[in-house]
Formats: sequence, C-alpha cells, structure tokens
Amino acid sequence: MPDKGFRSVNVTQQVWEKLKSKAKQEQTSISAYATEVLTSFIEADERLSHYAPLIEVVAFEGNSVILRDKKLARIVEVYLHEKELSCRHDDSMECVHVAFCQALPQVRRFVR
Ligand SMILES: [Zn+2]
Repeated sequence: MPDKGFRSVNVTQQVWEKLKSKAKQEQTSISAYATEVLTSFIEADERLSHYAPLIEVVAFEGNSVILRDKKLARIVEVYLHEKELSCRHDDSMECVHVAFCQALPQVRRFVR
C-alpha cells in the first residue's frame, strides 16, 4: 500500500530499471525522481499546448531549434548561446518562439 497522499502506478521492468539508475545518479528516491520527471513533462506539455496549433518543431540542429510558425508562414530559428535562447526572426530573447522553446523538455535542461 502506498503512503497517505500517494498513489501507485505500474511501469514495465525496463522503465523501472531506468528510473532506478537515474534516481541513484540524482541521489534521490525512485518515487521522488519519477514524480519530478512526470510533473515537468506534464507542465511542459500544458505550456506547449497553448502554442501547438501555431508553432511546431521542425528539427534540432546543433545549438538551434528550427520551428515552423504557421501564423507567419515561415521557418524560424531559435538558438542557444551561453545558456540563453534567442530568436533570429525577432532578434529577441522574449518572443513567443523563445517561450515555446523554453517549454520543450529537450531544451529545458540546457537553459538557465
Ligand atoms: Zn521569435
């Protein structure tokens, strides 16, 4: 039985082994690690869904994310420089393309 305020979830043996090894690396419990990973993915997914109809990832290339902006009907490049994201199209670090990239799980770990 899980502790009060917790619920169980079943994962495959393969996923369990990966969680166990990652949790050990992060020096935390498997439950704490799994909760953190799931929470951050769900938050990212919710944030991305605001932009999803208008912006999509085309590719990851080196330090850049290539996006298709359907509203502008063009390709936009957001690049990582010294742990900060910048958009070439808007020449900005605060535009919608940068916000979109900040929510991507693949990008989050590289950004301040
Ligand atoms: Zn932009």
